[in-house]
Amino acid sequence: ADAQHPLDLFGIDGLLSAEDRDMRDTVRSFLDAQVRPHVAGWYESGSVPVRELAPRLGELGLLGMHLEGYGCAGTSATAYGLACAELEAVDSGIRSLVSVQGSLAMFAIWRFGSEEHKQEWLPRMARGEAIGCFGLTEPDFGSNPAGMRMRARRDGDDWVLDGTKMWITNGSVADVAVVWARTDASDGETVRGFVVPTSTPGFTARAISGKLSLRASVTAELVCEGVRVPASAMLPEARGLSGPLSCLSEARFGIIFGALGAARDSLEVTLAYVAERDMFDKPLAGYQITQTKLADMALELGKGMLLALHLGALKDAGALRSEQVSLGKLNSCREAITIARECRTLLGANGIALEYSPMRHANNLESVLTYEGTSEVHQLIIGQALTGLPAFR
Ligand code: FAD
Repeated sequence: ADAQHPLDLFGIDGLLSAEDRDMRDTVRSFLDAQVRPHVAGWYESGSVPVRELAPRLGELGLLGMHLEGYGCAGTSATAYGLACAELEAVDSGIRSLVSVQGSLAMFAIWRFGSEEHKQEWLPRMARGEAIGCFGLTEPDFGSNPAGMRMRARRDGDDWVLDGTKMWITNGSVADVAVVWARTDASDGETVRGFVVPTSTPGFTARAISGKLSLRASVTAELVCEGVRVPASAMLPEARGLSGPLSCLSEARFGIIFGALGAARDSLEVTLAYVAERDMFDKPLAGYQITQTKLADMALELGKGMLLALHLGALKDAGALRSEQVSLGKLNSCREAITIARECRTLLGANGIALEYSPMRHANNLESVLTYEGTSEVHQLIIGQALTGLPAFR
């Protein structure tokens, strides 16, 4: 009998609607033709043509995909997740571009913005003509964003922003930044979001170089020095940290599916490799040690996908809780990086070559493990849900 496709082992295709399968196949063929052939080169050079790529992703409806109205595709959460898996099967950096644009920057405006914010930004962002970024993390505050030093000071009818954001995806190519800052006493010293055009005087973005992970993605430091924006730049509906945290929950949801896409690609590449690679006169695929590894990886991939689809169904029913998002984010990232690394071992020395994707995926997944809440933070969220006791501090 033919070897089972690692995805079909669980019969997962049969769980998807025909519409979702068609969408997935369309996204996969587009990426295989237009993006996959270039991605290793982008990774090597540490540069990615975000401006050229975004309109093509927009045309496919992938930007702000699960949002309603304003030129967004308005798909189910599950469909969005499946698209994330296809994007990340190519490279976590490409999925990051889409996640930050759709689930962080656009979602923040869509959920918390004024009608003017939405009209001004969302249609252009959905088309990929305008690029967005989301600035929450600072040099000294990642897992604990409540400590942020970015300040918004009221001055007449304006707000003046001062501070630094760090590790901001799309930061130096963005047209608009959603910047989270602590306001002054006039507003209760709470966390607020501001929609800041990156052309605003005093706003600068510097690309971070020397990354060993997520090299096919733009990451930047944002500096605000007396950035003056009108009162209307504030996102009216977000007050406190729950605003940015709810955006993170959206992006984490995409990662649950996305990271498994990187694992799937690693496994596919490896299955093809071990079938061709002869070891002591027979294919590497025919050894028990190889098959034990393959079986364990396919098992974790399938279990992870079943959990992802379950969480997708909960989200589509409006019943997904944040600790459940943590379960999925923790599981997908942890298992995906284990799979990518194990695949690398099966490729031997070729496994360290750019030509093969598993080590690129494994390196990328180091970032994915850390951003959008580190694995440890998600364990603490789950621990709190189990015990009722917060152990963060
Ligand atoms: P720290 O918070 O310093 O964590 C260091 C270690 O301490 C980790 O192992 C962590 O798990 C552990 N730790 C934290 N809290 C506890 C605790 N209570 N108990 C025990 N251990 C703990 N941010 C944005 O705002 N926008 C972006 O677009 C964005 N893009 C990114 C892109 C990349 C490539 C990367 C790498 C990061 C990006 N980030 C972005 C930042 C990311 O969200 C942070 O890196 C992440 O939140 C972790 O923060 P930190 O790096 O400061 O690590």
